[in-house]
Amino acid sequence: MNRRRHDPCLRVLIAGLLVGAFSITAPAAQAVPPPSGGGEPSAASSSGASWRSSPVLAADPATVPVPDAVPTAEGVCPSVGYGVRYVAPGEGKTVALTFDDGPGRSTEAIMDILEDAEVTATFFNVGVNEAVRPEIVRAQASRGFLLGNHTWTHPDMATLSETAQAREMDDAIAGQTSLVGAPPCDFRPPYGSYDETTLSLAQARGMNVWNWSVDTEDWKARGSDDPFWVDRIVDLAKAGGSQTNPVVLMHNMPAGSPATVAALPAIIDFYRDRGYTFVDLAGRVAGQPDVEEPVPPDAEEPVPPDADEPRSDGPPHRWPTWPPHTAATAAAGQGDTTLHGVP
Ligand SMILES: [Zn+2]
Repeated sequence: MNRRRHDPCLRVLIAGLLVGAFSITAPAAQAVPPPSGGGEPSAASSSGASWRSSPVLAADPATVPVPDAVPTAEGVCPSVGYGVRYVAPGEGKTVALTFDDGPGRSTEAIMDILEDAEVTATFFNVGVNEAVRPEIVRAQASRGFLLGNHTWTHPDMATLSETAQAREMDDAIAGQTSLVGAPPCDFRPPYGSYDETTLSLAQARGMNVWNWSVDTEDWKARGSDDPFWVDRIVDLAKAGGSQTNPVVLMHNMPAGSPATVAALPAIIDFYRDRGYTFVDLAGRVAGQPDVEEPVPPDAEEPVPPDADEPRSDGPPHRWPTWPPHTAATAAAGQGDTTLHGVP
């Protein structure tokens, strides 16, 4: 079973056993509390816990109508491989800044900082939050940032049935397509938690599955802009300096992420000073056209930067030979061409 957690070992063990048992005996949705130890903030679970206790959702999902169904990404997003990625695309030293759980009150400030620094990034938005702040989603797209799918209500996917997982993906696809006219072709599971069903469903929808290799734990600031949190976020982000192609996890929570905003310039400076090129997860660089690069037919999968990074213990990953990442780049015959496998 593919699962990734930062939680204490005991919790992981218990959750794994529970999910493992349910996957055999009860395929219907099961309510295992989402993790709370790291990676991502907890949200209201599928068991019906109050959304008000969640920092992840901007509104009660029960009050947010799911957009009318639109054609799924299938046939629109390009075909992609099975598996999880956490190595930034591109040749040489590249870094991908990623922001989850938005849009929120800090999203525009984050976009302004990125734009001023001529840095691109990827936003894994939550569908409910997009419905609450549609104008920000349109601004993200029009300003050239890559938008990903982070589900409709931010559940722990590995606790859900196949039907429920598919609904979370498809509702988010419908919502984002209705706002920006194109479906997301990249998916990040909340908490980094997934199973084989998640990977198969994402692949069927043409979505690459992404986790991260650097966790800033910025959500733990919970709205504070105290220098303690700002410094901590910057320090944790610097861990990626030991990697050639880090994917950095940050957040833009509905209620705002002021510590993340305050930390971002120093994080940008850190990577820029060390010669990294900033890319989105489609391999695009701000202000530059996409570049086509051939993929060596016998390219070996690179070794992950270190053993503590997210990894999958599932079936062997099968990477495609030519996976442009977005409908737009696919239509133009362009896209990321440098494949980075994960173990
Ligand atoms: Zn999240």
